[in-house]
Parts: sequence; structure tokens; C-alpha cells
Amino acid sequence: MSREMIEAILREKKLQDFSYEHILSSMCTYPHEIAVYAHRLFLESNAGDYGLFPGTKELEDEVIQMLGTLMGNENASGYLSTGGTESNIQAIRAIRNRKRKEGGGISDLMNIIVPESAHFSFDKIADLLSIEVQKASLDAELKVDVNSVESLINDKTIGIVGIAGTTEFGQIDPIKELSSIATGNEIFLFVDAAFGGFVIPFLEESYEFDLSVDGVSAISIDPHKMGMSTIPTGCILFNDGSYLDELVVPTPYLTTKEQCSLTGTRSGASAAATYAVLKYLGREGMKEVVDECMKLTRMLVAGAKRLGISPVIEPVMNVVTLSFPVEEVRRVKDALEERRWRVSMTRTPKSLRMVIMPHTGEETIKLFLEDLEEVV
Ligand code: PLP
Repeated sequence: MSREMIEAILREKKLQDFSYEHILSSMCTYPHEIAVYAHRLFLESNAGDYGLFPGTKELEDEVIQMLGTLMGNENASGYLSTGGTESNIQAIRAIRNRKRKEGGGISDLMNIIVPESAHFSFDKIADLLSIEVQKASLDAELKVDVNSVESLINDKTIGIVGIAGTTEFGQIDPIKELSSIATGNEIFLFVDAAFGGFVIPFLEESYEFDLSVDGVSAISIDPHKMGMSTIPTGCILFNDGSYLDELVVPTPYLTTKEQCSLTGTRSGASAAATYAVLKYLGREGMKEVVDECMKLTRMLVAGAKRLGISPVIEPVMNVVTLSFPVEEVRRVKDALEERRWRVSMTRTPKSLRMVIMPHTGEETIKLFLEDLEEVV
């Protein structure tokens, strides 16, 4: 094909994709302009073979140190993954491998306990790692019920997962209470802050949720969500760096002796993009982004309330879920989609879900509320 033909096809396909202006269902957003610049500059860099790309490695090391600091331990160890799913897999794989090595009588089916609100990546984990994933029930505020977690612990339990920013409701589990349970039972506590990691540190209310909490062993935080970096960029961080050793395999023909990442070839552009956006915005810039998202979140909830629609929970972060009768929620979603909006639905309780990401502006919320009014 000629270049012109290919370009024409690409442009046509691109037009079929939705633009973020009408997307209220996604935890991704436009990457920051400086992240795009950095990504392009490092497009060919393979962080999986960093002997060839020592500059990229330095950027990744500094990103890990910055994200460790943001997550409560500047000396945390980790690496940049492809996203929340890989980080979740690797956290659980590390503890499973450690337990296997230690033996301690746990030879058959080990288990972890995750909240019912956990991301579906934990179902993949059960399959991939051959462990049982037990689901703890939630309380009335859709946080994990710590009594349910405790009641599920048995002699095959190797870890607990808490979510700091649940995918569906944006709720924060009681990490401190989970950490007491983890410490008391000498098991691993992993916090999935894939979404919340770039939100919670900048909220008005403060939450104890990160690596600074005694008993939290690892945390994930995704630069490709609220960090406004480019896709694919996640990050897994351990308080105790020796957990990375549990993930290591020798890499005979590369410039490095071993590798702890799940993928082999890895985007160095992700490290460069994340470095750029973190350095450019700094904490103040990140806080401004979160402040704006939270302002628009409150605006959306207030507008919905004026229409007589209540949120399932008062938003803790920039996720809005609106209650409708079960038979009505699908109709509302479809009618909004006819008006070009992309929104999603939660499972239990059923509700209409919107994520207010940095690409959302005040005008968008106004237009959306006008359409919501007509639809209801
Ligand atoms: N964890 C949480 C809390 C999430 O919300 C998500 C995705 O939305 C994930 C993990 C998975 O992240 P990814 O899609 O980057 O693999």
C-alpha cells in the first residue's frame, strides 16, 4: 500500500474511535502534552534490556523513587508495569512464590482474600497463579467488611487485598484495619491504588492507605490513569525490596542478568513520559488536577440531586454513581449513549457510573446534566 492509502485508512479508523470529550466511563484520559513529547522521544527504548538504554533506566529509577515518596516510602522498590493488572498479578505472584519457598505446610491451594469490589484482574490471577481468590463482602458504604475478611482467613491464606479507590464506586477500604488483621495473622497486605494513588494524596480529607501504614507490604499506582502519563504505564511498589527477588528469572542473552517484570520487552517511553509529567506538574500541579476533578464531581452530584437522583454513595473521589430503579438504569444509559455520551453501569447495587477525569470540563458537565434531565 502507498503511504497515502495507509494514512487515509488510519485517519478513517481514528474517526470511528470515541473522543474523550464524550467519555465519562473511563479511568484513562488524554496524556499530558509533556508526556506525549517524552513518549515520542523514547519510543524505541526497551526497558526490558536496560543495559542498552541506561538513560531510560535512570528515568525509571527516579520515577520509582518519586512514586515511592508519593505512596509513603521513598525507599520503596518496584518497577513500571503495563498497568494495574500486571501490578496486581506481580504482587500476588511475589507473595505466592515467597510462601512456596518458605514451605510452612502450605503446599496445596493457597488463597488470598479480596473485597467483592476488587477489579476483575483478580479473577485472572486466580486462573494464572492457581490460587483461590476468596471474596469478602462489603459494608453499607461499599467498603470491604473487615469482619467478613477475618472470617475468611484460614491456614492457607497468604494475603489480603484492600482497594484504595474501587473501580466501580471510587471507595477506599479501611486499610488501617486491614493492616491490623494482616499483621495479626502474619500475612501479606497489598493495596490496589491503581486509580486512587494519584487522587487520595491530594484530597481535602486525609486517608491512611499507603506504604507508610504498618503491615502494608505492597501497593500499585497507575500513571496511565490519573497520572496523565501514556498507556501502558502502571507501577508496583514493595516496602521490602526482597519481594522483587521472588519474581526474578535469569535473562541469558540480554545485557542484564535477570528480570523481574512480567513482560520481557517493556516500554521505556512509559518511564520517560511518567518522569516528564511528574516533574512538570509536581505535587502542586497534581493537586490542581485533582481539585478540578473533585469540583466537577460535586457539580455533577449537585445537578443530579436537583433532578431528584441520588448518588449511591457521596463521592469519596472523582467517581459518581447514580441510583436508578434496576429496570430504569439500562434505559437511561442507552438513552444517554444515543446522545453520544459514554457512561457505564455498576453491578451491585446497579447504578449509572461516571468517572470525572482530567479531560472533563465544566461545559461537559453542564451539557451532560441537560441531557440527563431530558432522558429522565
Ligand atoms: N485496579 C483497579 C482499582 C482498577 O480500577 C483497574 C482498572 O480500572 C485495574 C486495577 C486494572 O488496571 P489496568 O486496566 O491498567 O490493567
